[in-house]
Amino acid sequence: MRAYIGLGSNLADPIDQVKTAIGNLQSLPDSQLIAWSSLYASPPMGPQDQPDYINAVAEIETALSAHQLLDALQAIEQQQGRIRKRHWGERTLDLDVLLYGQNEIYDERLQIPHPGISLRAFVLYPLAEIAPDLKIPKAGEIEQLLQHCPRDGLRKLEKILL
Ligand code: ATP
Ligand code: CA
Ligand code: CA
Repeated sequence: MRAYIGLGSNLADPIDQVKTAIGNLQSLPDSQLIAWSSLYASPPMGPQDQPDYINAVAEIETALSAHQLLDALQAIEQQQGRIRKRHWGERTLDLDVLLYGQNEIYDERLQIPHPGISLRAFVLYPLAEIAPDLKIPKAGEIEQLLQHCPRDGLRKLEKILL
């Protein structure tokens, strides 16, 4: 299955956290890292008294189920010392499953497509960079979504070399 992962960090050297996380995605079991976006910087969502975020999006091909993928991503978050202080608060690493093929999943652990995709510049712009023709279940063509999504202070940084 083709899946897209959203990455975010705003603690403990965020650029390094995101680079390390992309390296860790390369080692996911039964999966292949296909592509990854440039790094982006974005102002925080939610509480404003926290540092800016570094974001990126990665594309993988995986034989893991969506729930196995979530387990593996949460293990990487833990491995990179994730602490979560408050809702939408600062964290060393956040890994969200944005899309799992064209599947729609809604249960107590997983909502796919991730409900934030269409409204979050820090997800849409990096996602469109690596998948400009993507169609998002329930939401439509990414190109259309982008046209309705202001950049909200999003800044494109460098492309990571692994
Ligand atoms: P948001 O989901 O709005 O971006 P967040 O990333 O800060 O907020 P977390 O605290 O990281 O939220 O995650 C809370 C829970 O969200 C996780 O324990 C997980 O079970 C659930 N969840 C639901 N859908 C997804 C998804 N598509 N990807 C990752 N986690 C998800
Ligand atoms: Ca998130
Ligand atoms: Ca999350």
